[in-house]
Amino acid sequence: MRNIKDYDLEDLKKELIEMGEKPFRAEQIFKWIYQEKVKDFDDMTNISLELRKKLKENYTMCNYNILKKQESKDGTIKYLFDVLDGNAIETVLMSYHHGYSICVSSQIGCKMGCKFCASTGINFVRSLSSGEIVEQILAVEQDTGVRISNVVFMGIGEPLDNYDNVVNAIRIINNPKGLNIGARHISVSTSGLVPKIYKLAEENIQCTLSISLHATNNEKRSSMMPVNDAYPVEELIQACKDYIAKTNRRISFEYALAKDNNDNLNDAKELVKLLKGMICHVNLIPINKIENGAYTKSSNDNIMKFRDYLNDHGIVATIRRELGSDIDAACGQLRRKNLKD
Ligand code: SF4
Repeated sequence: MRNIKDYDLEDLKKELIEMGEKPFRAEQIFKWIYQEKVKDFDDMTNISLELRKKLKENYTMCNYNILKKQESKDGTIKYLFDVLDGNAIETVLMSYHHGYSICVSSQIGCKMGCKFCASTGINFVRSLSSGEIVEQILAVEQDTGVRISNVVFMGIGEPLDNYDNVVNAIRIINNPKGLNIGARHISVSTSGLVPKIYKLAEENIQCTLSISLHATNNEKRSSMMPVNDAYPVEELIQACKDYIAKTNRRISFEYALAKDNNDNLNDAKELVKLLKGMICHVNLIPINKIENGAYTKSSNDNIMKFRDYLNDHGIVATIRRELGSDIDAACGQLRRKNLKD
């Protein structure tokens, strides 16, 4: 049976028409799922019994079960959800002064093999459907009662390797009759799949693009991120420039600082040269040490010097607040530990 949350509003209308129903029924169903957050077709009380029966016969609601939940002292909550086929995915809720932000997974496992990521070593299983992505937000809102205002695609998986489902999920999340989260509050992070960056620039979505850059030259970047062999730094930066020109949106560059690897002032100088003239922002991430990982966190002094150098040379840079460091903050860690238990 198909997951009803895989459909954006327009596709759900088509489904309803095929069932001999009026298209406005799709809007009612959307409202029950995304605004009233019901978990059962029988709770959709303004839908006739007959249609509810048809819905139950043709679709599932795909409600996740919580396998594990860890709460940090700083309010961050990490979930491990059972995605109903024996697999598990990880979702993180973070609390900021401007509201609640959720970090969603887009795939079960990941093919990219970034050396600093705890998902590396976990085999790629499959991509998540749109409904499975959206369900992470619904399940967290249902569990906590909070209203999520920001969505970041920075959990497990390479979102642009699951392009169609991620774009469709964004349409559901953004739809005023869906989860109604503004596109500017939705951020998609990529390890640098260049052709998909060009494709995303052509979509009429105002989401923020975030690039996992982490190094400025091919040698260093390839040693951290194998994807760089396929799409080297020059091609990636060119795609980013094209994205900015087409969308007029600022790009966010993620730069995880690892001790004695990419955190000295020469790296900062190269980064300034590379990003000069682009509408962008650099997010400096104190890398989390992962079990058996090759990298360790840069010193606070180095991190601040790096940030100051960028800011002093015209590149806006901030240091990302470390959230949930007491509950395995690096992506993939919760899932990996659970697999080993
Ligand atoms: S950092 Fe992201 S893209 Fe890289 S391996 Fe981890 S999950 Fe995949």
